[in-house]
Amino acid sequence: MSSNLDLTPPADGVAITLDGDRLIVPDNPIVPFIEGDGTGPDIWQASVRVFDAAVSKAFDGARRVVWFELLAGEKAKGLIDEWLPKETVEAVRTYKVAIKGPLTTPVGGGIRSLNVTLRQVLDLYACVRPVRYFEGTPAPVRHPERMNVVIFRENTEDVYAGIEWECGSDEALKVIEFLERDMGRKIRADSGIGIKPISATGSKRLVRMALRYALANRRGVLTLVHKGNIMKFTEGAFRDWGYEVATEEFRDSVVTEEESWNGAKCDGKILVNDRIADSVFQQILTRTADYDVFATPNLNGDYLSDACAAQVGGLEMAPGANIGDEIGFFEATHGTAPKYAGKDVINPSSVILSGAMMFRHLGWQEAADRIETALARTVQQKKLTYDLARQMDGATKLRTSEFADAIISNM
Ligand code: NAP
Repeated sequence: MSSNLDLTPPADGVAITLDGDRLIVPDNPIVPFIEGDGTGPDIWQASVRVFDAAVSKAFDGARRVVWFELLAGEKAKGLIDEWLPKETVEAVRTYKVAIKGPLTTPVGGGIRSLNVTLRQVLDLYACVRPVRYFEGTPAPVRHPERMNVVIFRENTEDVYAGIEWECGSDEALKVIEFLERDMGRKIRADSGIGIKPISATGSKRLVRMALRYALANRRGVLTLVHKGNIMKFTEGAFRDWGYEVATEEFRDSVVTEEESWNGAKCDGKILVNDRIADSVFQQILTRTADYDVFATPNLNGDYLSDACAAQVGGLEMAPGANIGDEIGFFEATHGTAPKYAGKDVINPSSVILSGAMMFRHLGWQEAADRIETALARTVQQKKLTYDLARQMDGATKLRTSEFADAIISNM
């Protein structure tokens, strides 16, 4: 492993490239990683051993990942006084696929979330969160095994666009005055103002990605989640653009719910339906098995991803990725849990499963399968880190490093 601030690639690896929209993956790809803040280093040290073991066993030594450390977060701040060096962003752009642990969001000082910045500058427009149950994981519902969904959350627009003004600021007052004078809409003078842009471009490319995924992975249902009954020209438009993509670009592969009411048969096609955001939160609890792939605007997706993950045992077991047309960036879904930093106790499963997702993205299914199967077996054996062990009778509590050992020995 090498740690670098310039873009000198590790000499023993080869960069992943693109041919159109197809990744060309050598047998020894360079994959940049950011270990993350707080418990990030504990998690990374355990995860990388699991990744290397899985690749080695899956391909009998014929393939291996050449890891390339990039700086971000507290480590970068400490070493070079920058939270997110531009070299790090450029390296992710160059190498196409990367993985990271959690990063601290610096509080105050006008510094934006590093995670949000990375998504925006690299145009990683889809946050992809598969949520499934690993048998034996303590979960708060009676049938956690009914959950098996993949959420595609729009990542660049909506109230996350970062266009907002503080109450009483010149900008907020200017917008309030403009709305009253030119648009005839009155807003209280003591209001903060945020803007919620949702575009046809942003919505359609997200739904397109979700539909391609559903087709490639033989998923049966795509649900558009929106609050279009209230926000007609943003969330309602998201729904309309979603149906437009489905029926104009995927006509032979989809049936809309309305068409099905009029007698159209699914016959192996994808059923495209839509649900109002509030109703979807009760539906995933009461009719879990009816849902499959979701496409959602940014804020709905943020809430829905965590709610689904909670239903199967929590964010510690949930992988995630931010994907654009060229780049896939895989990441922990939980935060830095700083009180456990350096204690070798934290649950590394989110990063480990994100790594499995990354291997699928590379077309290295055999390595991904080994990781997921071995992790599932370890959980079934009730060998767990503290967070899950404390919820289960008869569990063996393992350290982070021991949990990685157990997964490797289960491969
Ligand atoms: P957090 O780091 O997720 O931790 C909250 C609590 O969740 C922990 O104290 C722990 O609970 C549990 N937890 C989280 N991850 C765990 C794991 N891997 N294994 C076991 N338990 C785990 O949330 P936070 O304290 O709100 O955020 C801390 C920092 O992380 C903030 O700076 C935040 O901005 C950042 N953050 C980063 C990301 C990201 O990089 N993707 C995401 C979210 C937050 P117990 O105390 O009950 O054991």
